[in-house]
Amino acid sequence: MISLKTADLPTNLQLPPEVVERGVLVVDDSDLQRASATHCLRDMGLSSIYEAGDGQDALTILYSVPQQPAVMLLDLELPGMDGIEVLQHLQGVSERPEIVLLSGSDAVLISAVATMAEAMGISLLGAYRKPITPGLLARTLSRYGKSRRSKEGSRVQAYSPFPDPEPENLRRAITQGEIIPHYQPKLNLQPAGSSQLPQLAGWEALARWTNTEGTSYTPGQFIPLAEQEELIGPLTLKLLDQVLVDLTSWQQQGVTTSVAINLSAVSLTDPALAGEIIQRVTAAGIAPRQLSFEITETALVMDLPSALATISRLRLKGFGFSIDDYGTGFSSMQQLSRFPFTELKIDRSFVQDAPKQQHVRQILQSAVEMGRRMGITSVAEGVETPEELELLKTMGCRQIQGYLIALPMPAAGVIPWIQQELQTKLQLCHQPHQPQVSQSNPDSGFPA
Ligand code: C2E
Ligand code: CA
Ligand code: CA
Repeated sequence: MISLKTADLPTNLQLPPEVVERGVLVVDDSDLQRASATHCLRDMGLSSIYEAGDGQDALTILYSVPQQPAVMLLDLELPGMDGIEVLQHLQGVSERPEIVLLSGSDAVLISAVATMAEAMGISLLGAYRKPITPGLLARTLSRYGKSRRSKEGSRVQAYSPFPDPEPENLRRAITQGEIIPHYQPKLNLQPAGSSQLPQLAGWEALARWTNTEGTSYTPGQFIPLAEQEELIGPLTLKLLDQVLVDLTSWQQQGVTTSVAINLSAVSLTDPALAGEIIQRVTAAGIAPRQLSFEITETALVMDLPSALATISRLRLKGFGFSIDDYGTGFSSMQQLSRFPFTELKIDRSFVQDAPKQQHVRQILQSAVEMGRRMGITSVAEGVETPEELELLKTMGCRQIQGYLIALPMPAAGVIPWIQQELQTKLQLCHQPHQPQVSQSNPDSGFPA
């Protein structure tokens, strides 16, 4: 329910023109709550407001009105077709409104449905426990269009001020080596009470593209395009070549380290990829244990046998494999245990929400424990604040990565960073005064 009082509407409220023009569909079975929402939307200056009392009516309206509403306020608890079923129907529709989920259920259920909707590729403006205030609704509607502008299917949400690249330019950029890796460090936390000090654990290579005119594109703009245009194989190999050059150069300067490369789901199904990688790494004289590959959970369900073949061949040679963005897909422990992973990278959404939300803290803790049970390293991504770091230390997370430690940097910045910044960052990770927590397995060094 939206409270009838509209006093808390922002005075400088400016809704996106699409929302004003195309309007909002309010789906709620309670007449009172629908009326309340409608009243509030009118106060915001909207005139196209549609109402539906159940899911079936909502779909009928969507398919019959001349111009689709921009936004749907969707109550999850509806008679007949419920809110989740409505979302499932929308998944198959190309033109669909952006969604604001509302529910009387608990926060855990609401955020589960929100995760599901996002995994289905549905643009979600917000998911809230009822009632929401007019001010919150206004702020939510003002976000319209933002998630669509960032690329669907990609985890990269960074907004680029430049228009998307053309396939031809991308092809040329790959051939000419315009796309290069930048490197972001990962640090090893040591368990409380351990006598070892935190250490540099390795680096993740992240693709960066600035063309000769100075235009920069985000991975969100060019990785999905490379996948569509069958250019992801050549791009990955070009980046690998550069990583091998950089590893060799650092080694010559006395720094032997390791790098993780992101592999797209499409690449996993390429039967030639594993062979190409092995051949290049051998030729460069780099040890396979200095390289690992990160693949998202969702990549695994696409083509199981060929993904297993690529991963197993590379693992047999000694390369590491990480599950990336862990927690954003739907894999069970049993599914994951079929793949020979060496590392679990916990998605940054959990890391960043954990200090504020207790149920997210529990998910984070169980992800760390799952890594421990599988005997693999847990890495927390997107660590931005000391508060997040402290929480991860107490949870026994093995490694961290994020802006708190460093932004991704060009290859030439790596050795200066190690010389000038690393020590300070390791100090942050040190936990000298933590009391010894009782341990179920003294060998693991982890708190019980
Ligand atoms: P990812 O693999 O999950 O990489 C982490 C992303 O989070 C990177 O964004 C990184 O810059 C960003 N990041 C790191 N620390 C923080 C933090 O503390 N806070 C926040 N908010 N963000 C942080 P980036 O470089 O834009 O890359 C985004 C995604 O693009 C990557 O997500 C990966 O899925 C994809 N990508 C990047 N390079 C490659 C590549 O060479 N190959 C493939 N297949 N995908 C790539
Ligand atoms: Ca990654
Ligand atoms: Ca990730």
